[in-house]
Amino acid sequence: DHLINQIAAGEVIERPANALKEIIENSLDADASYIDIQLEAGGIKRLTVTDNGQGINETDVPLALQRHATSKISTLDDLEKVVSMGFRGEGLASIASVSRLTLTSRTAIAAHATQIFAEDGKLSPVKPAAHAPGTTVDVVELFFNTPARRQFLKSPSTEFAHCRTIVERLALAHPNVAFELQHNSKNIFTLPAQSLSERCTAIMGVDFTAASLNVDETINGMRLNGLIGKPTFAQGKTSQQYIFVNQRFVRDKIILHAVKQAYNDVLHQALTPAFVLFLTLSPTDVDANVHPTKTEVRFRQSQAVHQLVFHALNKCLAATNA
Ligand code: ADP
Ligand code: MG
Repeated sequence: DHLINQIAAGEVIERPANALKEIIENSLDADASYIDIQLEAGGIKRLTVTDNGQGINETDVPLALQRHATSKISTLDDLEKVVSMGFRGEGLASIASVSRLTLTSRTAIAAHATQIFAEDGKLSPVKPAAHAPGTTVDVVELFFNTPARRQFLKSPSTEFAHCRTIVERLALAHPNVAFELQHNSKNIFTLPAQSLSERCTAIMGVDFTAASLNVDETINGMRLNGLIGKPTFAQGKTSQQYIFVNQRFVRDKIILHAVKQAYNDVLHQALTPAFVLFLTLSPTDVDANVHPTKTEVRFRQSQAVHQLVFHALNKCLAATNA
């Protein structure tokens, strides 16, 4: 099983940022309203995430580090979520197989927290520990036992940049969750729970938010909402183009094309607008079969998606430009 976990880790965990994404997504799945992220040396040396979510029962703590122990499928709704988001029940097991990982967790009703330590695929016995309700995942020396993988890592500052990108995307997708990010004990940002536009200001800068328009359009149960740069702020950077499908960051040619076409139609020039757009649709209308580290999706009705995005933005831009 250790080998299987390492192979699975090789597929999904290429660098600290991938591990960080899996861990933060678990915190979000556990309904945390506060997530604290501490990184050392770009997350290579250490990566610690603490949340105030539901926590894990004492008996379930060892299971959380085993493959396919996912607890996330109990209703049909969950199954659809799993289908669309690709919960695989192997994130923590994979990370644990290529690091020294300590999991400490406590549910709201537990008298104390429970802790377990994993190294090189071996689990320690669980022991009681002190921790507020919630969970801490502490990953030390990622890839210490997979030197080939370790060699592929870039400098700590590059790995940190990847981690920061992951945190920024997750923070934009979940403005109602408070995030704190520190690197080498230096505070990078502290974000309280806030509105989407406040979160956009925190991540993208007030220049963007001040020069943005609100979009919110629903057609046939498919919703597009978010902020788009005004015509005067339509020469942004591709790094300021965020598309979320059912709250997951994606890169999508169809949506991007529809956005550019909407600007072009009103302003008659090819632009690189900054935007943060959320497309929300039935999970069954998004193709499931995507690799967890990839950010592409496939829509069952891509034409309807294109039309919604074009129509919503075009309307908004035309009204401003009139
Ligand atoms: P998955 O997320 O696909 O279920 P993971 O390996 O990422 O698989 O996590 C395994 C299990 O550990 C989760 O299903 C969940 O029950 C538990 N878990 C992990 N992290 C947390 C957390 N931060 N809060 C509560 N439970 C967690
Ligand atoms: Mg997970």
